[in-house]
Parts: sequence; C-alpha cells; structure tokens
Amino acid sequence: MTSTRAYAAATSTSPLAPFTFQRRAPLPHDVAIDIHYCGICHSDIHQARDGWGGSIFPMVPGHEIAGVVSAVGDQVSKYKVGDKVGVGCFVDSCRHCAYCEQGLEQYCDEGPTNTYNGLERDGRTPTMGGYSERIVVNQDYVLRMPDNLPLDAAAPLLCAGITLYSPLKHWGAGPGMRVAIIGLGGLGHMGVKIAHALGAEVTVLSQSLKKQEDAKRLGADHFHATSDPQTFVKLKNHFDLIINTVSAEMDWNLYLGLLKVDRTMVVVGVPETQVPIAPFSLIPKRRSLAGSMIGGIAETQEMLDFCGEHDITCDIELTPIQKVNEAYERILKSDVRYRFVIDMASLKAA
Ligand code: NAP
Ligand code: ZN
Ligand code: ZN
Repeated sequence: MTSTRAYAAATSTSPLAPFTFQRRAPLPHDVAIDIHYCGICHSDIHQARDGWGGSIFPMVPGHEIAGVVSAVGDQVSKYKVGDKVGVGCFVDSCRHCAYCEQGLEQYCDEGPTNTYNGLERDGRTPTMGGYSERIVVNQDYVLRMPDNLPLDAAAPLLCAGITLYSPLKHWGAGPGMRVAIIGLGGLGHMGVKIAHALGAEVTVLSQSLKKQEDAKRLGADHFHATSDPQTFVKLKNHFDLIINTVSAEMDWNLYLGLLKVDRTMVVVGVPETQVPIAPFSLIPKRRSLAGSMIGGIAETQEMLDFCGEHDITCDIELTPIQKVNEAYERILKSDVRYRFVIDMASLKAA
C-alpha cells in the first residue's frame, strides 16, 4: 500500500479539502502512474454534490487523468516506466459479457468500475479518482497518450474528448452532415473540434453570443444564441445530428424540432432532473432521441490517436488544486474556456 495525497469531498455539502488514502501496490497486471494533470469534468461536480444520488464519500473525484508510468507489475507487457499514459472514466469491467467482449466496456452488463465514486470488482473497495498524486490501474484499462500532444491539454480528452467522439462516429458525422452541438463547455468545445476534423458542417447553439468568436476559432461554421426565439424558427427541421452537452434542465422538445426527418438528438449532458418529452416532438418527423456514455477502451485509444494525428487538444486553464472549489463555482456559471485542468505538482505544496 502507498500513502497517497489527494483532495476529497467528505460529504455532499463540504468543499474539497486535503485528504490522504492508501493505493494498492501494483498487482502483476497493474500499472502505477504518477498523475501530472487531471481535468475537471462537470460530472465531478454533480457527483461530489450528490446531484445524481448514490454518491460514496469520502470522494476523490477526477477521471481525466494524464501522467507517467512509475512502476509496472511483473506481467505487464503493454507499458513501461516512463510512458505517457492516461486513465478515463472507468478502471475495470466484468471482462466477459457480450459488451466487454465487443470493446463496449462502458456498457458492461455488470457495470464498469468507475474511476471514482465506484467500487472495485470485489464490491467493497471504493475507487478514488485523479485529484491525487498517483493511481494504480490494470494495464487493459490504461490508454497511451499521443507523443506530440502536451499532457495537460490532452488530459480532458479522456472524458470530454471520447464522450463527443463516440456519438459523432456512431451516428456518422462527416462531410455533408449538419451537426449541432448544444452548449459550448468542456464537452461541447471538443465536439466542435472533432466534428470539424471529421468534415461535418458544425453549428454551435449556446445560451448567448458571448462565445461566438471562440466557436469560429475552434472550427464551428455557424453560431446561434438559444436565448433568441428566432433561432428555433430559422433552424427548424435543419440538422442531421444534434449532440446535447448541457448539464442543466432545459426544454429538449425545442431542440428536437430542429432535426430533419429520421435524424437523432443524442443526449450526453446529464441534468439532475427528469426531462418531459412531448410525443409530437418525435412522431411527425420519425425523429430519435438517444443517449451515449463515454466510449470503450479501444475507441478511446482510437480517439487519442485521431487527436494526435489532427493535433487536437483541449483549450485549458491550468489551476492549482488549492483552487479547485473556485473552479467548481466558475464551471457552474459557464465561466471557463474551456476546461480546467489541475496541475498536480501543486499537491506537493499543499
Ligand atoms: P460544462 O463545461 O459546464 O459545459 C456545459 C455547457 O452547457 C455550458 O458551458 C453552457 O454552454 C451550457 N449550459 C450550462 N447551463 C445551461 C443552462 N441552464 N441552459 C442552457 N445551457 C446551459 O460541462 P461539461 O463538463 O462539458 O459536462 C456537460 C454535461 O455532460 C454534464 O452534465 C456532465 O455530467 C455530462 N457528461 C456526460 C458524459 C457522458 O458520458 N454522457 C461524460 C462527461 C460528462 P453555453 O455557455 O455555450 O450555453
Ligand atoms: Zn467526465
Ligand atoms: Zn462486462
């Protein structure tokens, strides 16, 4: 066991604060990783504040982990000390269900082991995430970071990147397709970059026009404010694919009205409340409403390699861990361009 420094939420109402816990010594197939950077995902806030229910405390959040291998178990063949690696939203799964066998571990029949706010396969040991100095993960759930990308700006690819890459690929985003991204936050800005790189015509639907210039720089072809009711008139029956990244309650029916016949709105944002859907938002145009969750290990590696080839990273604001609570408040106000990443070197100063 290795004593590991971290930041944790003690309860759903306490701010994150310094915390120490034990990581296991590497098992034969494990990789030990020195965490250099960890992105702050909006899911960290939902879970640290128990917005979805069922949170396990104390909680060390963080599932956009980038670092360097510091040790390997004696059966490890995929990684060696010094490799630049990443860990995303899960660190294990059952490994034998039909979905695990197809590389869809995120949809494992028995549930994947979440990187934090989860339990190891023993059903008892709580997992602790990336707001910490190190992590120990089975080699099959570790990703290789592209050599040409800086580790800090690549860290959020492990969640924000794959969460948009997977549905864009699944629903065939590419040339000739009009793709809308709702919400220009951590996920949304990755959606713009990736959809643009795939050759789609990209529109951002944002609450106001404040982020318009940024969106164009990121690769968007069009930008509309959803505070303007005319947006929903102008863009009626317009899109082939809509990806909704919004973390808060909103009227999905309005956005379904922007889809052409037979097209799909994919929900990836997770509001903390139920969302009413009117049958007539779907029926008259045979539209679909779908969901999508992160991506499997092979697809996450494919996404990292794609981002390496296209030189795609996240637009980040580095923060010391001591300011993580302020970062949370700014994320809740949509005041981040576009992802906070914790510089884990700051933990040593804690
Ligand atoms: P984020 O950086 O906070 O971005 C969310 C964006 O949504 C904001 O930047 C804002 O964009 C828009 N927004 C916020 N409040 C809104 C409101 N009241 N009405 C309309 N738009 C609003 O969050 P994120 O890290 O990208 O995560 C987004 C959501 O995805 C979270 O719920 C998170 O839990 C979820 N998530 C899901 C998966 C998955 O696998 N499905 C993976 C990761 C995260 P504008 O300023 O442009 O309006
Ligand atoms: Zn996330
Ligand atoms: Zn499984």
